[in-house]
Amino acid sequence: MSHFKAAANDFIDFVNACPTPYHVVHDVRARLVKNGFKELKEKASWNIEPNGRYFVTRNESSIVAFTVGGKWKPGNPMAIVGAHTDSPTFRVKPVSKRSPSGNFLQIGVECYGGGIWHSWFDRDLSVAGRVFVKDPTTGKSQIRLVKVDKPILKIPTLAIHLDRSVMEKFEFNKEQHLTPVLGLLEKNLNKKKEEEPVESESDATPHQALEQCHDPALLGLLASELDVTPEQIDNFELYLFDTQKSCIGGLNDEFIFSPRLDNQVSSYCATEALIKSLDTVEKDESIRVIGLFDHEEVGSLSYQGADSNFLPAVLSRLAGAPGQNDGSDVSINYQSLASSFLLSADQAHAFHPNYPTSYESAHRPDMNRGPVIKINGNQRYTTDGVGMVLIQKIAEKANLPMQKFVVKNDSSCGSTIGPMLASKLGLRSIDIGNPQLSMHSVRETGGSKDIYYLEKLFIEFFNNFVETDKQIVYDE
Ligand SMILES: [Zn+2]
Repeated sequence: MSHFKAAANDFIDFVNACPTPYHVVHDVRARLVKNGFKELKEKASWNIEPNGRYFVTRNESSIVAFTVGGKWKPGNPMAIVGAHTDSPTFRVKPVSKRSPSGNFLQIGVECYGGGIWHSWFDRDLSVAGRVFVKDPTTGKSQIRLVKVDKPILKIPTLAIHLDRSVMEKFEFNKEQHLTPVLGLLEKNLNKKKEEEPVESESDATPHQALEQCHDPALLGLLASELDVTPEQIDNFELYLFDTQKSCIGGLNDEFIFSPRLDNQVSSYCATEALIKSLDTVEKDESIRVIGLFDHEEVGSLSYQGADSNFLPAVLSRLAGAPGQNDGSDVSINYQSLASSFLLSADQAHAFHPNYPTSYESAHRPDMNRGPVIKINGNQRYTTDGVGMVLIQKIAEKANLPMQKFVVKNDSSCGSTIGPMLASKLGLRSIDIGNPQLSMHSVRETGGSKDIYYLEKLFIEFFNNFVETDKQIVYDE
């Protein structure tokens, strides 16, 4: 198997296992543990050793992992790759029970992020996330991941015969028309009559309160998936996902047809690069870091998002280690950050053949032609000349193709976690990512060779950052 195909296939397995940020962190954690990384807890003190491999999670939906170079000294640089674990989707509402419309059992969902919501119509959907399960003996709530591998939900379109206007323009209301159907009511009502005694409101236990918020059918489904009783479910955080699996596509296997390319591609490649560069850690002077954050799609401002103190707190504890307890010397931390570098990794827009005028004519990235450097003079992306020279030197040495992207002057531009991390931490940075089509659709399209290219670029960055940075005369 070619290295392109091996990387693409492993990525596909990763996406298929990871419908939510909780699953991303779970899978990344498993890959790291398998390769000798030790888990640290933010609430404990850390004993960081040269040649060590560590990771720390926050809310189990964001994760920072790092290796400490054998030649690391306090104040030395850090080579950082940042990405995000979340993607636009629907979240099951706190009260998801709907009063019946016709004969349908439906659940209320809330839009999460800026999805291309029309792409979610008529797809075979299911739910995944995490459930707080009460241990019957201790009474403690424990988090269990859940992923229902069966199409149980549908957001149906209206037949064209009932609304001819959709031939001109497909319009819908996000509150009214995106409520998925879970099943038909009759069967459920019958079951209810037989099995469930009517309770008065004053007798309601917290569990019954949960039953009042969600249909017993949904709670029963979660209970049976987790092999617990519905009474053991204290609460849950559930998201919708498309059950159609990620796959290789195109005449010559040139594409990946997949959900969540944005931004599981970067999360996957960063993780694999940190692992695949372990053999050079011993002679490295830097700390290599990957930071994978939840909540990018909704602005990153949360306890575990990139705009939180998660990464600054971790880096400040590393900068002085070992020798200075958890980096208590502030100047050592700043010294370290000033010589560090961030690759802010997020997906880029590939050229779309049917919308050529939506692209700036000289900046049209193609799939399978390497990672894209994203540039925006208005600082929606962090890329500047220093970063471009650095990454070009690293890519050239490894013979890796690279591309460039700017938006048209009359077009809006996305942004990334790059500007907030670079400004908050005082880091030099560049924005980079793989080109894809249909960003934020439930089914996106990327290039099958690009997984290998991005992973390789990150490996080269970790292996060569310190030496390459010395080749750029800057701020001296
Ligand atoms: Zn993204």
